[in-house]
Amino acid sequence: MAEAVRSDDQRDPEPFDAVVIGGGVVGTAVLRSLSRSGFRRVALVEAAPDIGAGTSKANTAILHTGFDATPGTLEAALVARGYRLLGDYAAATGIALERTGAVLVAWDDEQLERLPSLHERAEANGYRECRRLSRGEVYGLEPHLGPGVLGGMSVPGEAIIDPWSPVFAFAAEAMRNGAQVMRSLPVLAITSGGPHGSRWAIETPSRVLTTDWLVNAAGLRSDEIDRMIDTATGRGVGGVRSGAFTVTPRRGELIVYDKLARPLVNHIVLPVPSASTKGVLVSPTVFGNVMVGPTAEDITDKDDRSTTAAGVAALVAYARRIIPDLAGEEITATYTGLRAATEHADYQIVVDRERRYACIGGIRSTGLTASLAIAEHVVAEMGAGGERSPGELAPPPRMANLGEATTRRYQTSGCGPIVCHCERVTRSEILEAMAGELPPVDLDGLRRRTRTLAGRCQGFFCLADVTSLFTSSPVRASH
Ligand SMILES: Cc1cc2nc3c(=O)[nH]c(=O)nc-3n(C[C@H](O)[C@H](O)[C@H](O)COP(=O)(O)OP(=O)(O)OC[C@H]3O[C@@H](n4cnc5c(N)ncnc54)[C@H](O)[C@@H]3O)c2cc1C
Repeated sequence: MAEAVRSDDQRDPEPFDAVVIGGGVVGTAVLRSLSRSGFRRVALVEAAPDIGAGTSKANTAILHTGFDATPGTLEAALVARGYRLLGDYAAATGIALERTGAVLVAWDDEQLERLPSLHERAEANGYRECRRLSRGEVYGLEPHLGPGVLGGMSVPGEAIIDPWSPVFAFAAEAMRNGAQVMRSLPVLAITSGGPHGSRWAIETPSRVLTTDWLVNAAGLRSDEIDRMIDTATGRGVGGVRSGAFTVTPRRGELIVYDKLARPLVNHIVLPVPSASTKGVLVSPTVFGNVMVGPTAEDITDKDDRSTTAAGVAALVAYARRIIPDLAGEEITATYTGLRAATEHADYQIVVDRERRYACIGGIRSTGLTASLAIAEHVVAEMGAGGERSPGELAPPPRMANLGEATTRRYQTSGCGPIVCHCERVTRSEILEAMAGELPPVDLDGLRRRTRTLAGRCQGFFCLADVTSLFTSSPVRASH
């Protein structure tokens, strides 16, 4: 209870050592690293009512090895490192992860000819586990693939992960180390120089925060925050940046098939990527579904998360061609995520010690995987005084298991009644989520913490019970 009160509170006139703008998977990972550093007063501000409700809630949830990254880029290095860090973190916290491996499938001669260069690229990225596959080997691994496979390549390290829990785990761990998380607090303006000799003053609708360091992890709006910094100081970061990147939202639509489709897919089935896109994949999810997507379409509206009839139709047609038996399966959900694409191919990460500003932009389609490595890199560059002694640090939190590969709560004795029957979520799991460090503020937040309402009925049968549990929670009532 004490932890919950510390979040979203309205105190703190004193300057912070560092404030992170943006509560997605990247911002919360940075907050976690800062909370473990020599910085003592750290905070995160999130514009939305909840953390993890931006791009971080709507992706394909692959823990990438980075085998196909462009060698030598910062992204390649941080994805490879993040793959190991997040894999270890998931094991330590109980975040669901399945090491299914991926099969890259060539459907025409051109794709087949590209496989050797992809294999070389994987090796150049330090990933040596890829293996070329014959047509027969591909069908042996994925018997439900449609006709026309010419060959393939296995990428055994690729994995599927629960995409929602990392955000909550990072934030909870940071809060246990003393960090503050403030939701519903959009940054409206930033000025250079605040009271008490602090470097930055951050204006929000209800309060002004002052801080020595500012970390921009605002995702789709990281370019806007970057421009606020330029305006505040009258120059670019490190003297070289000014409006150095512009975020163009790249819409990625996805469809989710019912759990009955899960036996049709064993691995992540990847297309051979082209120069411009990773392409559409067919993948199992840790929640026991099959997902197909994402599309890739540049749009202008950063808030437009709508799915389109054309996008869904294209995905359905694609799915039926890759795995014809999917034609008989039901689609239970569609959703859209917006990648923070920029005009640059690589991440736009710059840490300016002179101005005490860290910019984390252009974290486009690998940010979940790279999150902990981005945080490690940025906090080291900030010179935040090394890591505190282990005795001073909270252990990683134990997260509720949302994955099907290991025992769920409903499968244990004394688990109590199930409330959401499609996803088999118990009453006790909902009550625990409501009593966590950062309780959900709406049913979407409850869904991302427990899986409730995410199943095939989409709340048709359990919405009334779940809503009543949500609104009558003692923790919620005290907020
Ligand atoms: C379709 C799709 C598929 C993907 N698949 C994968 C995958 O399989 N594996 C993988 O590793 N990655 C994947 N990604 C990428 C990954 O999801 C992103 O890189 C990651 O979620 C970005 O996190 P973030 O914290 O930078 O951004 P966000 O999650 O968008 O967080 C930024 C936050 O900043 C807040 N904010 C913005 N402006 C302000 C302001 N003025 N004041 C306060 N707060 C503000 C926003 O509200 C938001 O919550 C995919 C992305 C998409 C779209």
